[in-house]
Amino acid sequence: MRRPANLSSHSATRAIDAIDLAFDVAGLKRSPRGKPSPPRRESRRDLALAEELMRPAAKPGLAPNGVRWLRVPGWDLPWLWSGFSTRRDGLSRAYCAENAKGELNLGFTAEDERETVLDNRRLLAEAVTGSAETLLVTLRQFHSNLLLRATSADAGRERPQCADGLMTDEPGLLLAVMAADCIPVLVADRKRRVVAAFHAGWRGTVKRIVEGGIGRMRLEFDSRPENLIAAIGPGIGPCCYAVGEEVISEFESQFVYARELFHEVYSRDPARKKYPMLFMTQRAPGHSHMGPEIHLDVVKANRRQLLDAGLRAKSIEIVGGCTSCQPQWFFSHRASRGHTGRMMAVIGISESARQRVGRFLN
Ligand SMILES: [Zn+2]
Repeated sequence: MRRPANLSSHSATRAIDAIDLAFDVAGLKRSPRGKPSPPRRESRRDLALAEELMRPAAKPGLAPNGVRWLRVPGWDLPWLWSGFSTRRDGLSRAYCAENAKGELNLGFTAEDERETVLDNRRLLAEAVTGSAETLLVTLRQFHSNLLLRATSADAGRERPQCADGLMTDEPGLLLAVMAADCIPVLVADRKRRVVAAFHAGWRGTVKRIVEGGIGRMRLEFDSRPENLIAAIGPGIGPCCYAVGEEVISEFESQFVYARELFHEVYSRDPARKKYPMLFMTQRAPGHSHMGPEIHLDVVKANRRQLLDAGLRAKSIEIVGGCTSCQPQWFFSHRASRGHTGRMMAVIGISESARQRVGRFLN
């Protein structure tokens, strides 16, 4: 769906002046109270301004090698590696201005050099684990709910396996899912020392990749939900994620709580704010270029799946950050119309834990 660009404040003022003039000429008053009239029909969903839905990210930390990445607040288990990359501080030149610093693109995209991406991956591994040589397990992601139990044989494959979730109990492996709007979710079992990473865009979320992933952890490793901690990483936020009727009906067909995941969001365009009735439309919600858009909260959807799988609310960390409205920190597929790099969410059991099994049971 194409979204019209917001008017600049100057042209918006001119547009309002033109409408004011037309109303004057016609002898019309905008509203006797000087306020926009309330919507006539009762709203199906909660109303919000985009700003109200924004969840800012914590400030990324700086690694000794110069890479800035997001740690999960409170995740300081000595055996656990985990984090979310940003777009900053790498070697890629494919998506930045000519004189800007290089960026940390971690996906083999058409525009970037494979060697550069491999070097960027080594930088992230070093930032998170202390060693650039840590084995990295990646996937060919395709918005499925397929899961892979990873071993060292899966690390560094020329052609990674097709799946959207990874889990392992093997120390020394860094599991990675890639995203540039989709939501990455990391999970760790504090008792059994198991880790998992899931890639949850709207399609994977509808297919319950996270809920199913926790079930698979129970099957494979006897993980108990009350021992699990989870972190939901940066992705496109409810402030920006306008969706069409197709997405809404998919969620409504799958989740009894679907309605809680959507908001009607009013345009930031001041002309529309002052004259909402002029922009009303007969089209289905989310299909219109005018009027309120319907925004999806994929973070909330995945938090709900973690809760439904039995995790405690206090065990779920939302790291925050919107990939679409914080372009200084994140790659966004939608905001860049597909011309963008990829970030990674990574999790692993530290190599040193192999030698020290049993000492850090907490
Ligand atoms: Zn946003």
